[in-house]
Amino acid sequence: MENEYISTVLIVDDTEANLIALSALLESEDVNVLQARSGNEALKIILTNKIDIILLDVQMPDMDGFEVAEILRGNNKTKTIPIIFITAISKEEEYIFKGYELGAVDYLYKPIRNELLKSKIKVFLRLNKQAKIIEEKNSKLEMIINELKEKKDEISRLARLDGLTGVFNRRVFDENFGNEWARCFRNKKYLSVIMIDIDFFKQYNDTYGHLVGDDALILVAKEIVKTVGRSYDEVFRYGGEEFVVLLPNTDYQGAIFIAENIRKNIEKLEIEHRNSEIAKYLTVSLGISTCVPSDNIEKMTLLDIADNMLYDAKRSGRNRTTGKNLDKLMNNI
Ligand code: GH3
Ligand code: MG
Ligand code: MG
Repeated sequence: MENEYISTVLIVDDTEANLIALSALLESEDVNVLQARSGNEALKIILTNKIDIILLDVQMPDMDGFEVAEILRGNNKTKTIPIIFITAISKEEEYIFKGYELGAVDYLYKPIRNELLKSKIKVFLRLNKQAKIIEEKNSKLEMIINELKEKKDEISRLARLDGLTGVFNRRVFDENFGNEWARCFRNKKYLSVIMIDIDFFKQYNDTYGHLVGDDALILVAKEIVKTVGRSYDEVFRYGGEEFVVLLPNTDYQGAIFIAENIRKNIEKLEIEHRNSEIAKYLTVSLGISTCVPSDNIEKMTLLDIADNMLYDAKRSGRNRTTGKNLDKLMNNI
């Protein structure tokens, strides 16, 4: 890439003979040469061309070289173009052009020594090319950094999800359960937990195979998410064929309503299960527990009770919801 780029040099001089001489000098240097015969013409060319270096005659009628440089300095797009002033003024009375981008200004005194001009131009162009290479590398690096950031975000998102069903995984449940517990504790709000377990799922796998079992798990997870519906209620795969739903700000009656909807909706999916001991289709059992978190109860107790309720639902026939409202003590449905 470094070798492909041809630099463009703009020569600004009101004397035709100088333009010709300087252009001829640069012809051997493998650069594009543009010419301007006045300051105004130079500005027009600079605005419409990509200029890498300007050879700028200082003594010109109308607008002199310093005035041209003054204008270039005032524009963000042009203030970094290197300028070599060409002047007949002796070094003693030299006007040092200030405020221009540091290192981007140099002087050549008439009569011009060809070798000096060539070497100055070479130095500037080399610096220019290096700056461009650095710029390109920088923007590539920036792209790579952005891609890495996106990948990192994607990886941390995926690390929170269950690979099979796409609902949150157990690790996120542990995290969110702690957070919701603390939040409902502070706000004295109900927190409900629903444990869900597929009925006779071992037989399902034995009957249809593990892969079909996986598909059923995906369908069940989707149906739970769809039924729960509200964004702050979160569905997690608790393990194996067990799911858990966290319902902050939801009292016992609300939790029963949601759990029963989940149960009915999964039954309505009519996922054939010919070896289920209780139905023709795949069903789930659910255990609920509800409390207002306080110092009187352990966080894990809420989970244990939901688990016990699930066990009760299994024992008493499956495809049903059993629950306990810890605030009202025993309150089974
Ligand atoms: P119950 O009604 O008492 O819950 O009976 P069950 O057969 O559902 O319960 P059990 O705990 O005996 O069996 C659970 C089955 O779930 C066994 C296991 O192979 C299956 N299972 C767990 N995780 C997965 C999974 O990711 N994919 C598939 N296909 N099956 C799974
Ligand atoms: Mg089961
Ligand atoms: Mg189980």
